[in-house]
Amino acid sequence: MLNSLKLELEQRKANGLLRQRRLLDSPQAEHIVANQKPYLSFCSNDYLGLANRPELIAVMQKAAGDSGVGSGASNLITGHHRYHDTLEKQLASFVEMPAALLFSTGYMANIGVLGALTGRGDAIFADKLNHACLNDGGYFSYADFHRYPHNDVAALEKLLKASTAKHKLIAADAVFSMDGDIAPIPEYLALCEKYDAYLYLDDAHGFGVLGAHGQGSLNHFNIKSPRIIVMATLGKAAGVAGAFVAGEQVVIDYLIQKAKSYVYSTPAPPALSATLSASVHLIEQGDDLRANLFALIAYLKANLKLKKWKLLESDTAIQPLVIGGNEESLAVSEYLQAQGILVPAIRPPTVPAGTARLRISLSAAHTLDDVKQLVAAIHQAESVL
Ligand SMILES: *Cc1c(COP(=O)(O)O)cnc(C)c1O
Repeated sequence: MLNSLKLELEQRKANGLLRQRRLLDSPQAEHIVANQKPYLSFCSNDYLGLANRPELIAVMQKAAGDSGVGSGASNLITGHHRYHDTLEKQLASFVEMPAALLFSTGYMANIGVLGALTGRGDAIFADKLNHACLNDGGYFSYADFHRYPHNDVAALEKLLKASTAKHKLIAADAVFSMDGDIAPIPEYLALCEKYDAYLYLDDAHGFGVLGAHGQGSLNHFNIKSPRIIVMATLGKAAGVAGAFVAGEQVVIDYLIQKAKSYVYSTPAPPALSATLSASVHLIEQGDDLRANLFALIAYLKANLKLKKWKLLESDTAIQPLVIGGNEESLAVSEYLQAQGILVPAIRPPTVPAGTARLRISLSAAHTLDDVKQLVAAIHQAESVL
């Protein structure tokens, strides 16, 4: 076995697909120290710049003092602290859903929810560009798993129409993590009503960013329905860690009994929940942060003038710059890094072959000067590479 692992790693390296971890020597922020060198970073999902906010650090320190550092046991034994409970109620109210349930990560939430809500005789309909953990959620369930072309409402309708499954669940990213575009959520809801299906949305990149006050993609479209269940992560715009699922009370009650990654797993420390309560408050009060973020997005889109490469159409903080080849994308990323700017190269299998790209992510904590520097460096890279 060890020999075949070694061969596979060598193969990856030969194909320009070997991934390497950068060693971070500073807090997560716009200006970071990685591998002991300073960089301007466009790598993180900390879209509102909350991961290193002094007031949140103070809340976490205090909460650790009064609730300890560990949860001790699963939620159904003695691990469910009042801080967890308070955060769940606050999140449900913020996203205007009847109830919410915390998971330790978004990955855990997706495999837990799909595994619990669907089974033999049911069907899941999933966008081809969904995040990997929604696909894994499909494996955890015994439901039939159908994938439809990205954002293709007509193809999805065909599949739903032909389906004889007992329960039908559409599962989609609300904002696509490597493309930045938004799913046609109103059209999906109409299909749910027409074909008696339900909609499970992964709003990892919409929560905190979209909506009137950062409530996420559903608020962005002004949509509410008992047919919708939404998951959002708390390690991205919320700046901390974890995830929650929100929906009808009966859905949450059912997940507490049946989502295995909830039942058989130790919850994140209560101090994290206390910190997240403060973070959700900052999100709610963060209209100025979002205004800055959207001004930076507009600036980048208006000022990046490209000949060979292409900025994908996206109105969110994720701005993908498609280069094409794997080695070529890596070369662009390395060129920028030599200028002191970090933008990750994203290669297959994370994105389809031939669409390797730089995933630029903007944050409310960036300044206009930061983005100007990025635009100039990309222009320079395109002319010399
Ligand atoms: C990051 C991400 C997840 C996983 O969330 P974690 O909390 O990091 O495990 C799930 N779905 C999408 C779309 C994501 O981008």
